[in-house]
Amino acid sequence: MARIDLDHIRHAYGAKPQSEADWALKEVHHTFRDGGAYALLGPSGCGKTTLLNIISGLLHPTEGRLLFDGNDVSTLSTQERNIAQVFQFPVIYDTMTVYDNLAFPLRNRGVAERDVDRRVREILEMIDLSEWAKRRARGLTADQKQKISLGRGLVRSDVNAILFDEPLTVIDPHMKWVLRSQLKLLHGRFGHTMIYVTHDQTEALSFADHVVVMYEGEVVQIGTPDELFERPKHTFVGYFIGSPGMNVLPVSVEGAQARFGGTAIKLPDRPRTPMGGAIELGIRPEFVRLGREGMPVEITKVEDIGRHKIVRAKLQDHEIAAIVREDEEVPAEPHVAFVPEKINIYAGSWRVAFEGETE
Ligand code: ATP
Repeated sequence: MARIDLDHIRHAYGAKPQSEADWALKEVHHTFRDGGAYALLGPSGCGKTTLLNIISGLLHPTEGRLLFDGNDVSTLSTQERNIAQVFQFPVIYDTMTVYDNLAFPLRNRGVAERDVDRRVREILEMIDLSEWAKRRARGLTADQKQKISLGRGLVRSDVNAILFDEPLTVIDPHMKWVLRSQLKLLHGRFGHTMIYVTHDQTEALSFADHVVVMYEGEVVQIGTPDELFERPKHTFVGYFIGSPGMNVLPVSVEGAQARFGGTAIKLPDRPRTPMGGAIELGIRPEFVRLGREGMPVEITKVEDIGRHKIVRAKLQDHEIAAIVREDEEVPAEPHVAFVPEKINIYAGSWRVAFEGETE
């Protein structure tokens, strides 16, 4: 296992970039802690795979350095970096048995046959393929083949890191859920440094202890699932994480109050630094209360999502979403109010830190 430092990494495909927008990765400067479980999360094209490939050595960054435990590995090949990888589609030996597919990476490194056997059996058990050990991979389903790929990625205990690139894409939804929790368990048990690329927030939040949110070639926030929910650093993180995402409304700020239309909303405390750019208020639908007090709204849609419902409403000229309990009555003259301590304020799309709040 290793700590991985990304030291001012930038990457551009093709010719020398003419403008900032030409960089596929703008600047990534971050440390992945030894033994951490990280997810790289963001929409298609934001640079997740580029970053993963730079860590694995499939791609050499245009600028910056990569360090494993303080040693510069920037010029080393994938094999020399000693990492395991699991891709979106199975990478296995079709003619080998399931068992031999998993044993291969260990035998290849000269591990004693007794240890190979113990380890392979342990992993087969965890990915629920023990019964299939003697079968050739060729005849198996896509799901099973991808499980073999996962097994191959997990089988070596001496790797510096395990990298996953959307590994559950071909897995059926029920099995996805099972494998996700198995991976989390495996991480807890073996403590590998794991980096997991996905555009699926459920996958990221359930797997990782730290989520790296990327947007247009930049890392916009690295945080625990709770931090991303409670304090999105950028309005994009607020929209992207959550279902539905955070409501964002334009406000003006006067002292300790934010004004939205004719309504004054009390702010947590004084901002630490002066606020520039357009000021917005962010409030998650979970913290919008629907009742007889607050600002009047016009309900436009109610969606039932099991024990809760999503109420969409027009608040002045803006759309707003609230999540309320399924049995909650929608009043005849509905109003909304925001839970004050759950309000975030954004200046130029970045979250404003207030006096008195802990980091
Ligand atoms: P996805 O979820 O769709 O895989 P991603 O977040 O992994 O997306 P990347 O594949 O890293 O994003 O792509 C980042 C940017 O780099 C995109 O604008 C993409 O078009 C561009 N890009 C990726 N690979 C290449 C390549 N081989 N040549 C040129 N441009 C590329």
